[in-house]
Amino acid sequence: MSQSLPISIVDAIAVSVNDDASIATVNDSVRASIGKVICVGRNYAEHARELGNEIPKSPILFMKPASSVVSVHNEIVRPNPAIYGDTHYEAELCIQLAADLSAATLEQAQKAIGGVTLGLDLTLRELQSKLKDKGHPWERAKCFDGACVLADWIDPQAFGDFKNVEYQFYINNELKQNGASALMLFPVHELLVDISHAFSLQAGDVIMTGTPSGVGILQAGAALTLKLGTYEWQSQVR
Ligand code: ZN
Repeated sequence: MSQSLPISIVDAIAVSVNDDASIATVNDSVRASIGKVICVGRNYAEHARELGNEIPKSPILFMKPASSVVSVHNEIVRPNPAIYGDTHYEAELCIQLAADLSAATLEQAQKAIGGVTLGLDLTLRELQSKLKDKGHPWERAKCFDGACVLADWIDPQAFGDFKNVEYQFYINNELKQNGASALMLFPVHELLVDISHAFSLQAGDVIMTGTPSGVGILQAGAALTLKLGTYEWQSQVR
């Protein structure tokens, strides 16, 4: 049913990463098929409340460039905290499209999903707060190199209608975020429809569907675990 992606990301990641050259190769492979990354802000009511934000009536959208994407198989490198402040994690269910979508119907959106995984929407929270206070865009806080961490793409058939997808994020084996698509204010297919009416989506584009409550600071040396059903990925913060 789903078309194959332009590049087999899973195959690209299957190589082991032991040196800087292969790290660059893995990141290049992950980025190669991605045109843009669309992020959804405040898609979980609890998370909106924890940051003191209103619950939105329509999805809040922002983007990350493909240059910010890195594979979860590498160490996670934060911008220097002494200069930029703390980097916060936001674990999110991510969708990659296998087909273009413009002003799509629910059925078209459903058919266009080519891959599913977990990702970390890394955020310079102090900088973002300052930018928000001034009414400025968030790019400086959300688009830095390494700000979009992606795990391996999984066939969407494993997730049925996306109404009951659960995922977890752990730091040093302690549960930090517990996500469930059932708690999304705007569910996956509806999100794709809404975004495709705002602007065209293309095969390869990635949608980060928003983070549940429990966001916090990424500390140096932290061991990270992302769990999506039977799939699990580990990473480490430099
Ligand atoms: Zn986010």
